[in-house]
Amino acid sequence: MKTYIGVDVGGTGIKTGLVDDEGRILYKTTKPTEVERGFKEVIGDVCDSIIELLNRARKEELAEPEYIGLGVPGTVDAEKGIVIYAPNLFWENISVKEAISDKINLPVFMDNDANSAAVGEKIWGAGRGISNFVCITLGTGVGAGIIINDKLYRGTFNNAGEVGHITILRDGPQCNCGKKGCLETLVAAPALVKKGIDALKNEKDTLIRDLTLGEPIRVNAKVIFDAAKMGDRVAMDIVKEMAYYLGMGIAGIVNILDPAAIIIGGGVAAAGNFLLSLVEEGFREHCFNRNGRIAKVLLAKLGNDAGIMGAAALGMI
Ligand SMILES: [Zn+2]
Repeated sequence: MKTYIGVDVGGTGIKTGLVDDEGRILYKTTKPTEVERGFKEVIGDVCDSIIELLNRARKEELAEPEYIGLGVPGTVDAEKGIVIYAPNLFWENISVKEAISDKINLPVFMDNDANSAAVGEKIWGAGRGISNFVCITLGTGVGAGIIINDKLYRGTFNNAGEVGHITILRDGPQCNCGKKGCLETLVAAPALVKKGIDALKNEKDTLIRDLTLGEPIRVNAKVIFDAAKMGDRVAMDIVKEMAYYLGMGIAGIVNILDPAAIIIGGGVAAAGNFLLSLVEEGFREHCFNRNGRIAKVLLAKLGNDAGIMGAAALGMI
């Protein structure tokens, strides 16, 4: 049995796992990121978590991990091991690989978190055996990892897969990137939450109110989907619109790349097949090839551990 260490460095938490070659997480640790402490402190915690797992592996007489994989939310130069820009971590042009290699004598692989998720799905999840696919992570933001000919496609400047910032709606909602009407502003969790809160204000009769006791703070993507699944018209309209735009975005990706599958993961994808069936409509309507020979839309399989698993798989393709 081979083992690997996967580290998911998020804006709120550092999740570290010891993963075996069959994709099982043997041990896992979680620490708060507390980004305001600065890079050195955060990376110190990352190293401590890794060392903890290395000690654990030794104690249990498991195989020494083959390498360390790191997923980071931002633009990453995977070859050089540099984080070019990770706004949620306040990291800019930082040699993360070097900082880890100074303390731990194992090979280090690093990539953007959406790319890592795609690699994880390729090795252990819904992308197994599929040579060309795009894995979309749908959560607070929207990102994607692109697998072409069984390899990760990073683009010329490491910016490939920023599908969340495809403009879908002229003069649409303001995006964090500074533009308007980006896919992310229409389909990510905050877009659903905003619509749900608006519904509390404007709609008398909606299950969203029952499920949140009328408190805006309790509105989240799950509440909207739950209400829609229960047949609530207001929630259903919100979900339908979101799914339609997501379908449009997916059609754009498919028209360019002609992949065999689009895999949807991330927190919002927890809505499952209910979401997928609604996405189909917008997708098919905007797809160039409508004769049925188009990409399948699939749900990601790695769920909550996608970050750790994806990072642990980074050295495999
Ligand atoms: Zn944007």
